[in-house]
Amino acid sequence: MKTQAAVLWDYGQDWKIEELELDDPRNDEVLVRLAASGLCHSDEHVRVGDMPFDALPVIGGHEGAGVVEKVGPLVTDVKEGDHVVLSFVPACGRCEYCAKGYQSLCDQGAGIAVGLQGDGTSRHHVGGRDARLMCMLGTFSPYTVVRESSVVTIDQDIPLDKAALVGCAVTTGWGTAINAAKVSAGETVAVMGVGGVGANAVQGAKMAGASRVVAIDPSEFNRDQARRFGATHTYASVDEAREALTDLTRGKMADAALITVGVVHGEMIGEALSLVGKLGRVALTSLGSDTEDDVKMSMFEVTAYRKTIIGTLFGNANPRSDIPKLLEFYSRGELLIDELITRTYSLDQINQGYDDMREHRNVRGMILFD
Ligand SMILES: [Zn+2]
Ligand SMILES: [Zn+2]
Repeated sequence: MKTQAAVLWDYGQDWKIEELELDDPRNDEVLVRLAASGLCHSDEHVRVGDMPFDALPVIGGHEGAGVVEKVGPLVTDVKEGDHVVLSFVPACGRCEYCAKGYQSLCDQGAGIAVGLQGDGTSRHHVGGRDARLMCMLGTFSPYTVVRESSVVTIDQDIPLDKAALVGCAVTTGWGTAINAAKVSAGETVAVMGVGGVGANAVQGAKMAGASRVVAIDPSEFNRDQARRFGATHTYASVDEAREALTDLTRGKMADAALITVGVVHGEMIGEALSLVGKLGRVALTSLGSDTEDDVKMSMFEVTAYRKTIIGTLFGNANPRSDIPKLLEFYSRGELLIDELITRTYSLDQINQGYDDMREHRNVRGMILFD
């Protein structure tokens, strides 16, 4: 079939809307008609070359939801008509890490920057060339073909444009607080960066019963929005937050600091560690350049105060259990998703959407398909 997609031909260029030739699903693959796709910072990391892809061109987008229209002959768990969230990390359920309950580390995740199907070929072709898929999904298109392991079936009464956000931002942020930092009742939590992921880290910390949720972001818009999601205090800089935390906690400092900024740099690790006190946990969710390896931090404080740094991928979630669970929270009104979507765009407005993200005009921008 023919459709359209936002394609990256070279690093540093804008997304280009191209005609896409899409093959039928083979093997364990499904054709999904997408309802919506979120504009996440990770696609921007690919665009600028922070996270180089195995090969270009690549179809962007890894935060979507839609309806299964066709299934390959080896598909067993989903059928035509199912509503699905696309999970940016696949969860095969069978590899060692899935079996041990660490689905965000599914062995199939090795393919997320390769972007091919399970048999090493591509169903997506642009300008006569095979296209790769961001996170093996490529949601910047009204249609995509992905492996069955990349979709999670959801209840049909959940609006798909809201469900899309659980494929990355909601689960990543909420899981950073709940699964990675293991925030518990009465704690003080600092969240560095309150865009799409950070706003959900704030929601997670609130849901866990944190007494104080301190949101840190240079954008006034983001700080204002963070209060809607449960931030009790907001500051423009880490220095301001550190001073305030010293007062608020009588010097004990935060129990956890969550790094959910758009682009992480080495000095931020030390900044986050400076916000937490004894037994403090720092959860690192943000991505930076994959070549940056210079971290500044007080090693003495890590040892003397027994601080921990926790690496966090997809909120350390298990997509097959956490995606339906988060959507249940949403249905019961316990988790805000509608409020995350600041602006919506058509596919051909995608570069405007990313401009708005870079200018901090959105908690989350979202592409809606007809
Ligand atoms: Zn994402
Ligand atoms: Zn697996």
